[in-house]
Amino acid sequence: MSSVEKPIGPHLAALPGPISPRKQTVTELSTEQEEELRFKDMDLSPSMLKALDHVGYEFPSPVQEGVIPLALDGYDVMGQARTGTGKTAAFAIPIIEQLAPSDEIRKPQALVVVPTRELALQVTNEVERLSFGQQINTVAVYGGDPIHRQITRIKQGVQIVVGTPGRMLDHIQRGTLDLRETWCVVLDEADRMLDIGFRPDIERILSRCTCDNRQTLLMSATVPVEIQRLAKKYMYEPEMLDFSPEDITVDTIDQYYFTVEEERKFELLERLLKREEPDQAIIFCRTRRRTDRLQLRLSKKISAVEGIHGDMPQSRRTRVMKKFREAQVKILVATDVIGRGIDVTGVSHIVNFDTPQYCDDYVHRIGRTGRMGREGVAYTFVSTEEGKLLTQIEIRVNQLLERGEMDGFETVAREPLEDRKDKKAPPASLMKRPPKRYRRGV
Ligand code: AMP
Repeated sequence: MSSVEKPIGPHLAALPGPISPRKQTVTELSTEQEEELRFKDMDLSPSMLKALDHVGYEFPSPVQEGVIPLALDGYDVMGQARTGTGKTAAFAIPIIEQLAPSDEIRKPQALVVVPTRELALQVTNEVERLSFGQQINTVAVYGGDPIHRQITRIKQGVQIVVGTPGRMLDHIQRGTLDLRETWCVVLDEADRMLDIGFRPDIERILSRCTCDNRQTLLMSATVPVEIQRLAKKYMYEPEMLDFSPEDITVDTIDQYYFTVEEERKFELLERLLKREEPDQAIIFCRTRRRTDRLQLRLSKKISAVEGIHGDMPQSRRTRVMKKFREAQVKILVATDVIGRGIDVTGVSHIVNFDTPQYCDDYVHRIGRTGRMGREGVAYTFVSTEEGKLLTQIEIRVNQLLERGEMDGFETVAREPLEDRKDKKAPPASLMKRPPKRYRRGV
């Protein structure tokens, strides 16, 4: 079947294509098209946009950009993603979007199978947040919680059931959980479930979900052979999306942070560059506009500065990168387009002029230095509200960043930030799949 003959959803049709419908990595997505995609650009219903606004999500995470459009188009999706990537909303949003009204289908429509009761509660909470303003009932079923309370909730009518395999089976055997109308099954943290030994339970549950056109979504941090077997047996031509981080060691890199107000970042950068006299540095910014602006400002003060981001034609990007590799360019101002994907290593200094929103981007950015036994140093500018991001980064790299020293730039308190990062475009898939199921407002 030729890919051009295959139907594509409206949100995918808008993208320049074709992009390979098979396995895509975040690296490919980010280097091909670096779009600042917002949820409101994603073919979501007004009620979902309202809920997203309510929870404060404006920009989809890479996992969400990848999974949501495919899931909305009815594809089975296997996403390689860990906790902390926004994977819960990645499956919760398309489920909520496709639910039939409860007076049309009284039985559970979606099942989310998770390995632990903690995750069951966490997922239920996220689903409820994303159901804001809508008549959607979700129940968490897990061992250790009185079963009769769960039975009462299910009897009252629930659309989404989140739970651990053992308790779900218990309900199925008691006849309190009827899965004949369940059109979507999510296996969350599937590798953990298999590690725990839930495979037989999962298979039993799946065999009860007899709905035609069942959609199966699988989230797993790793995809060992066992997961592949499970996918092959129970999923229909799954789309594979890989959001796993590259295995980059950052132990050899000296990592510092400065807490600094936005207005003073440029001054700090200037002083840092003057003090450090880097052989070569990459300065990472969050957006293309900020990259352009910073490059312009810097080139007025120092020579051999270039900028690179996803808006530039490929030929120009290639030229800039060549000059950088040949050391004709000393300072490169960049978005995450080169944090991932482009092969640059051995740079002496990395400066995160803007703190990356996602920990994995931090790892990718600073992974451009300190390679092959060379020493590297990375500085991260953290605004006063970005303390939470810094903590997440520290957890990710499993070490505390040292406070940078610079007169007049003493660190102040850390606080959380609701912010965003550069976004990557969603993948386009041209494979023929079952039509969309229930879509509100469609
Ligand atoms: P998860 O990987 O699903 O456990 O999500 C990790 C955290 O990210 C949770 O606290 C979510 O509330 C949050 N989150 C998920 N998606 C977004 C988004 N698009 N924007 C901001 N925060 C998000």
